[in-house]
Parts: sequence; structure tokens; C-alpha cells
Amino acid sequence: MAATIRCEVVSPERLVFSEDVLSVLVPGVAGQMGILPRHAPLMTILTIGEIVVKRQDGSELYFAVSGGFVEVRPDKVVILADAAERSDEIDIERAEQAQERAETLLQRKLPPTERAPLELALRRAHLRLKIARRRAGRAPRPISRGEEEEKV
Ligand code: ATP
Repeated sequence: MAATIRCEVVSPERLVFSEDVLSVLVPGVAGQMGILPRHAPLMTILTIGEIVVKRQDGSELYFAVSGGFVEVRPDKVVILADAAERSDEIDIERAEQAQERAETLLQRKLPPTERAPLELALRRAHLRLKIARRRAGRAPRPISRGEEEEKV
């Protein structure tokens, strides 16, 4: 049997995911980070991006994550997310509204301190839309780091 690692994704509100899996890809601040069973222990900060989990049956799950921390131990990955949703939990209409709200406000002349949170909200909305829309139809493909900002 292939080696597995326990993956837990936890948000302030709920346990988003918990399962023994084959691998986990997380959006670290220094780039996408792949985690396999028996990985060396480490802790790092996550950025807004995608988590890709490879399950024991070979299928993949995709999550939108809005930053947080990841703690890796040889037998366990714990992702403490600011917010996280599995692709099939994402409410597209809500993300579209969030995108529209942020875009409308960003058209105003605002000081950087007011622009920054709106730009983050826009990135979260873009990421959610991209991950949610991908689930319908075509074969899933992980997002490379920064792509959500460049291509939307
Ligand atoms: P909104 O303005 O729609 O609340 P947001 O980016 O400000 O979006 P967050 O603060 O990142 O939202 O998340 C708040 C909570 O709502 C989290 O639990 C997050 O998982 C959930 N959430 C946010 N947007 C969506 C969405 N489009 N679909 C499902 N859950 C969402």
C-alpha cells in the first residue's frame, strides 16, 4: 500500500477536511510547496491560493485558501486557514458579488490603506471563481502561483 499522510484543513469556523492522503500541494509565501509522507518538519505561512490534495484513489481535491499557516510533520499536515472552501462548496454568486463590490470600490480614488484590503478581497474572489468554475466540465488543473492574479 502507498504511504499516506494525514491532511487536516482547519478554518476558524470548522474542520474543512481531514483524511489520509497521498500528497498535498499548498500555496506557501515562497511558492507552491509539495508535501509527501515523511516530509521533514516545518512551519510556514500561506498566501491566497489553491490547495491540491491527492487522495488514495488517485483523484484530486481542490480548495481555495485565503492565507494562514501550514505545519508539516512526517505523518501529518495541518493547514490553519484564515478561510478555506473545497471547490464544490464555493458559492459562485457570492464570489461574483464580492468581486463586483471590490472592483466598484477600487475605481474610487482611495488611500493605499483602504485599497489594500479591497485588493485582497478581489484576489480571494478571483481565486474562488477560478476554482469553482473549473470544477464544471473540464479536467481540473492546479493553479500555478500568481496565476490567479495574472489571468483573471
Ligand atoms: P464575502 O465578502 O463574500 O464575505 P470574503 O472574501 O470577505 O467574501 P472571507 O472573509 O474570506 O470572505 O470568508 C468568510 C467566510 O465565508 C469563510 O468561512 C469563507 O470560507 C466563507 N466564504 C467566503 N466566500 C465564499 C464563497 N464564495 N463561497 C463559500 N464560502 C465562502
